[in-house]
Amino acid sequence: MNYNHCFDELHEECGVLGIYGVRDASRQAFLALQALQHRGQQACGIAVYGHDGAIRIHKGEGLVKDVFSETALVGLPGDILIGHVRYPTTEVGGMENIQPFRMSCRAGCFALAHNGNIVNADSIKGRLETLGHLFHSTSDSELFAHLIGEQKTGDWITRIMAAANQLDGAFSTVLLADGVLYACRDKYGFRPLSIGRLGSGYVVASETCALDALKAEFLRDVEPGELICIGPDGLKSFCHSQCPGRRMCSMEYIYFARPDSIIEGCGVHIFRKRTGKLLYEEHPVPADIVISVPESSMSAAIGYAEAARLPLEMGLLKNMYVARTFIQPAQSMRDIGVKMKLSPVRSIVKGKRIAVIDDSIVRGTTSRQIVKMLRDAGATEVHMLIASPKYAWPCFYGIDTGTKEQLIGSDHSEEEICRYIGADSLHYLSEQALFKASGRSGLCTACFSGNYPTDLYNGA
Ligand code: AMP
Ligand code: SF4
Repeated sequence: MNYNHCFDELHEECGVLGIYGVRDASRQAFLALQALQHRGQQACGIAVYGHDGAIRIHKGEGLVKDVFSETALVGLPGDILIGHVRYPTTEVGGMENIQPFRMSCRAGCFALAHNGNIVNADSIKGRLETLGHLFHSTSDSELFAHLIGEQKTGDWITRIMAAANQLDGAFSTVLLADGVLYACRDKYGFRPLSIGRLGSGYVVASETCALDALKAEFLRDVEPGELICIGPDGLKSFCHSQCPGRRMCSMEYIYFARPDSIIEGCGVHIFRKRTGKLLYEEHPVPADIVISVPESSMSAAIGYAEAARLPLEMGLLKNMYVARTFIQPAQSMRDIGVKMKLSPVRSIVKGKRIAVIDDSIVRGTTSRQIVKMLRDAGATEVHMLIASPKYAWPCFYGIDTGTKEQLIGSDHSEEEICRYIGADSLHYLSEQALFKASGRSGLCTACFSGNYPTDLYNGA
């Protein structure tokens, strides 16, 4: 099986937003997209449906606060919009890939944006190119748009349903056409998408933290395989594909989502705290203090320290102003990146046996650097505890972690990884504990188990 296949393509880890019937919608979007900023810092955009029926777009590279000046927001009048933030990947940049996209077909002009990765994109794109379709970007959103436009007849709902039904993989998509907001999720529900009420209007967002930012009242999640349509008659629901079984991405809970978000009924902070507690139950280590790797493992570290009745200390300090290391293309740059991002607090770690809690090990860069910096700062023992199972398989559903060859867990045992990172011991959470922490079934755990919920369409 060629696991590198999908990495030739665009991997978008993003956040999406939709607003319907809210005055000054672009200002609200400015706030909500900032609440989703952790889901994407490379680029962002807003497409507004104006009172004159035109769809206006403003988008650019950078953070929401930098892309949307006062002038830009004034230039986006209207009560209905979609918005997007995009994660930085090493592979595909460029203005042509920044969402939302505005397209037009026989049914009229529309805009759309998505989060996720379509696994049968190649075959659909190949078929469309044979028919003469021209593509401007490598984004799955453009593919979705072509499928909508390809339908010979039908209203927007019929078109979107027919398009969504052909796509396999992960997508949480928002769409705007003729003054109506549409939102849909793939049939497995890999990526989150929640609906809230704001006054007499609605907000749809990748995470509930964006609803909270607007003081919108959480209504419910968009269901896997569901298309919702919000227009003058309120909210209507349609089924574009039968759900074969829920498969929410477990990495959303482990790493990606904001701790104050609630995903399909399970609070992210609570989930992470429980993984910390279960990690202690599975792997109690001889330690004087517990420390987290700021910030994503903080909740798990709280859980571990509470269960172990050990002090939770600030052994590592994060420099907020350094870009994320994970996405640096060269390994040497990643090593430097970790050193610049994290510093040990010598007075805390000196002479101590330390239990370090991190949420995951992907390439091993962070853990290796952390162990070294803690030892250099005088730690007597460093035990690395990971609040998720061993990450061993690439993700094809929109979390960009690299190829199989780049994942240290893919061909190394726990003992080998422990030796590589130089820790006194290394322990992972069991998959069983991951389910227990979530209090739910129906999670995707393919990057830990290799059990992909979908076909991968790569000649496997
Ligand atoms: P690595 O240094 O390659 O082993 O990456 C592990 C670190 O990256 C951990 O501290 C995680 O918090 C973080 N991480 C895990 N998954 C991702 C992801 N998809 N994108 C960016 N960072 C991640
Ligand atoms: Fe999430 Fe892993 Fe499944 Fe990808 S493979 S969707 S990262 S759980």
